[in-house]
Amino acid sequence: MVSVSRIHLVLGDQLSPSLSALSDLEPDTSLVLMAEVMSEATYVKHHKKKIAFLFSAMRHFAQALEKKGIRVRYVTLDDPKNTQSLENELARALRETGATAVVATECGEWRLAEEMRTWSERLGVPVEIRTDDRFLCSIDDFRAWRKGRKQLRMEYFYRDMRRRHRVLMEGDDPVGGKWNFDAENRKPPASGLKGPKRISHRKDEITKSVLSLVEARFAEHMGTLESFHFAVTEAQAERELAHFIDEVLPGFGDYQDAMVEGEPYLYHSLISAYVNAGLLLPLDVIRRAEAAWYEGRAPLNAVEGFIRQILGWREYVRGIYWTEMPGYADRNHLKAERGLPWFYWSGETRMNCMAQAVGDTIEHAYSHHIQRLMVTGNFALLAGIAPSEVCEWYLAVYADAYDWVELPNTLGMALYGDGGLMASKPYAASGKYIDRMSNFCGSCAYDPKLTTGPKACPFNALYWEFLARNTERLSGNARLTNMYATWRRMDPLKQKAIRSHASKILEALEDL
Ligand SMILES: Cc1cc2nc3c(=O)[nH]c(=O)nc-3n(C[C@H](O)[C@H](O)[C@H](O)COP(=O)(O)OP(=O)(O)OC[C@H]3O[C@@H](n4cnc5c(N)ncnc54)[C@H](O)[C@@H]3O)c2cc1C
Ligand code: SF4
Repeated sequence: MVSVSRIHLVLGDQLSPSLSALSDLEPDTSLVLMAEVMSEATYVKHHKKKIAFLFSAMRHFAQALEKKGIRVRYVTLDDPKNTQSLENELARALRETGATAVVATECGEWRLAEEMRTWSERLGVPVEIRTDDRFLCSIDDFRAWRKGRKQLRMEYFYRDMRRRHRVLMEGDDPVGGKWNFDAENRKPPASGLKGPKRISHRKDEITKSVLSLVEARFAEHMGTLESFHFAVTEAQAERELAHFIDEVLPGFGDYQDAMVEGEPYLYHSLISAYVNAGLLLPLDVIRRAEAAWYEGRAPLNAVEGFIRQILGWREYVRGIYWTEMPGYADRNHLKAERGLPWFYWSGETRMNCMAQAVGDTIEHAYSHHIQRLMVTGNFALLAGIAPSEVCEWYLAVYADAYDWVELPNTLGMALYGDGGLMASKPYAASGKYIDRMSNFCGSCAYDPKLTTGPKACPFNALYWEFLARNTERLSGNARLTNMYATWRRMDPLKQKAIRSHASKILEALEDL
């Protein structure tokens, strides 16, 4: 019998060969443990495609380790001996192998991190939890960056990250003379705009068996498993990235904020699920995009805009999460208490923008940033939906969603629940914005030009109602001065009509 002295735990979003927990595997005495457990798959009702993606990617990762001669104990969801919790699987593995130590990498969620902190005592063996060095800013470094700052604006963090990692730099200056080319990245969709064709991946036996398992065990979860298109191995994720850099990146900047019916992806990269699960490493992705600019294969506004998302936003939201938790999840600056309407799960609403965004989500476990922020997020903000319900929805329905990244984006950026820690003003917008940035309104039952009456776009009255009910909290915000001035100048009778229409909408949200 082969002896095992150490168990190296790999979680479902840690599928990177360079993971810190795997850095010192001993062929004779190390055992890698991976487990599909119900407790992690169901603490929110994750989208079926998200579960299938992760289980298939985990199984392929385990297989790749074994091919390198590494011993892996892989516990499938339907293994009769599976205790369905990580801690119990770890305890069982320790008992059955006689191992006397555990090595892990820090996880992506406060809830699990708290559990992991108690493992050593509860399991009776040393549990070493190592830094996740796939991220480009450690939590300690982020804490040091934010110390003493009154404002935590992402832009300044991003500039520091550019300098620190020498990305798109010329000496001490940004290439092209500017840090940020966002002003060039807000084009509305041109008529007939279509995104490039995307690649797909053959489903092998592992993926097919995971799809059957998920259909059988998670039938009541949101989403469809039809046309499962995810990359599930490092090599497939690499093909996705190469395709993006070669064919899609040049158009990324121009249409970053545009939304088009039937075109869920446009020029977005679709790599978030792979980076977050570890199939792609952020620094590699950044270097590849940077090289595309140096080689003249993509313009600077596209490359800088893309890199800012990964080197800036992605690292920044993680820093916010770990330096603000545990209290962050309970923040509700705008005292929003309403329940989440059912159409977030069904997509059944006459509001075409919402039907499109939720429909894409049901089909692909994906919708792009502006749909998340300015359609589903904006509606929840305007309607005053409770942050906890909105956050649970975002965490469940997107294939790239983990608490560390979903929570700050939803509670902080989309819902202003942290009172402006992340965003300098709420991302609240009327139907006018959606009309300008999409072609959704043309085939909607509502009219974006109307504010009251049965055909009026609900976003319009809700927008003014949002400002009116939050006057005390928001009217001092310099970036909202013009909007509050417009509201105050409005004829009181018109104001009354708008607020009364908004109340009717809010009383019957399910009927929209
Ligand atoms: C309400 C809301 C919830 C969100 N929840 C998540 C989530 O759970 N998981 C997640 O990865 N992203 C989340 N985002 C951020 C962003 O919408 C997604 O990263 C992006 O849509 C993924 O698609 P893509 O890979 O095509 O991204 P692209 O638009 O091509 O962007 C490139 C990459 O940059 C990174 N990125 C871009 N914006 C952000 C951001 N704001 N925060 C973190 N990383 C970013 C991602 O890794 C992404 O793959 C959320 C945004 C909002 C407004
Ligand atoms: S009219 Fe309003 S509800 Fe309809 S698609 Fe446009 S913004 Fe959405």
